[in-house]
Amino acid sequence: MRHRAIRPEPLFFELNPRRVRRQGYMLPTLDVPPVEPAEVLPADLVRDPDPHFPDIGEMEVVQHFHRLSQLNYAVDEGLYPLGSCTMKYNPRINEQTARLPGFASIHPLQPVTQIQGALRLIWELEETLKTITGMPGVTLQPAAGAHGELTGILMIRKALSARGDAREVVLVPDSAHGTNPATASFAGYRAVEIASADDGTIDLGALEKMMDDTVAAIMLTVPNTLGVFEHRIVEVSKIVHDRGGFIYLDGANLNAFAGRALPGLMGADAMHINLHKTFSTPHGGGGPGAGPVTVSEALLPHLPVPRVVRAGDDYGLLWEDPESIGPMRGFYGNFLILVRALTYIRSLGAEGLRTMSDVAVLYANLVRHRLSGAYHLKYDAPSMHEVVFDDSRQARHEVHNTDIAKRLLDYGFHPPTMSFPLIVHGALMIEPAESVPPEEVEAFCDAMLAIAKEAEENPELVKTAPHDTPVGRVDEVRAARDLKVRWAPEGENV
Ligand SMILES: *Cc1c(COP(=O)(O)O)cnc(C)c1O
Repeated sequence: MRHRAIRPEPLFFELNPRRVRRQGYMLPTLDVPPVEPAEVLPADLVRDPDPHFPDIGEMEVVQHFHRLSQLNYAVDEGLYPLGSCTMKYNPRINEQTARLPGFASIHPLQPVTQIQGALRLIWELEETLKTITGMPGVTLQPAAGAHGELTGILMIRKALSARGDAREVVLVPDSAHGTNPATASFAGYRAVEIASADDGTIDLGALEKMMDDTVAAIMLTVPNTLGVFEHRIVEVSKIVHDRGGFIYLDGANLNAFAGRALPGLMGADAMHINLHKTFSTPHGGGGPGAGPVTVSEALLPHLPVPRVVRAGDDYGLLWEDPESIGPMRGFYGNFLILVRALTYIRSLGAEGLRTMSDVAVLYANLVRHRLSGAYHLKYDAPSMHEVVFDDSRQARHEVHNTDIAKRLLDYGFHPPTMSFPLIVHGALMIEPAESVPPEEVEAFCDAMLAIAKEAEENPELVKTAPHDTPVGRVDEVRAARDLKVRWAPEGENV
């Protein structure tokens, strides 16, 4: 077991509980008469009542926040096996390039003559993503995967309305990420669920029946959220295209096949790529991301503006295009995330990208191989970059996926994704991601195997976990219903 001794940390307001008078800095004795705030500030700017800031010194402030930071689990700490999320390490060279003053200190309203380097970087990343996907066009504007989905579906809607073909439905498999049906509805379509076949991939028979001239598009995740490759994707594309629909690929799992297969050849019309998943860059905690969308010939005219254009060695911006869906975000999107992604891709090179995908798949299969004796695998089709187990064997001892996840905390690991995809009850969706050393993947498997054994021999131990964390098991229902978002001094109600 990997143990980190962590003391519980009081709230900032609870530091210095005896309210001993302390101050952050030693300042020279005041040599002018002291004034009360109310004497020099307008009354409505004077804070009342006392905000109860604790009197604490600078070092206590630093130590408090440092200790808080230690309560977080992070990719810089170890394996972070959240399936679908691809929590991979962000190499520090990404941060070095993103901090270069020529990238970090520019402003989007500067004249294009002053930001030629930045525009060239956008152009080069666009060209690189076209090569990686085998698709002829791309926009880097969307701020995340979900935003990319919306951008793609709006382009599809624009293409359909340009040919006078209003359609109502977007088909979404029952294994899809929740953002897919949400996007379809947000774009004004009705999301209709399409069932998966026994191997977890799309049911072609169901598609044949449902695909008619009311269907605008199908949104497919490749490989899907079970980590299974849609091996009939070319047939799916043919059925959908023959009946006038479009293929939207959710490319959040591109780290399973980048450098090995081209979505362009699978028949994709639009596909978002999560730069913050596939191509490192910091990710999680709601930080900025980027969800570029690559498109087929059919959608090229509808790409958002502004677009970076090139004439010889000069770069410019195209702001107006009547066929475009218009801007999806201020200026060009989250620019410094683009810098990080291009840095990552360039530092790996084509061969490195292939290795990235290979190792992602290898690790998921290592986990599958080591754990499938202890955990149940509902779909046993070959795994790509992630593997989805369920808790049905442990449930016999009343141990469920939440308990397993909590117990993993005691072993020093972040839990996997749970309860998703929805078609797997009690899911444990594990994606090691390729950036950790193999020993780390093995250590995670050891922990999972130890927990499976505990579930049989001492289920109570697992059901009451975590035992070694600063905060034990929380009452999740109460935490959601009885939300306290503000500290209040004793005796004061919020
Ligand atoms: C993460 C993810 C999304 C959404 O991407 P965000 O960048 O989080 O908005 C969509 N689909 C799948 C399969 C994902 O894993």
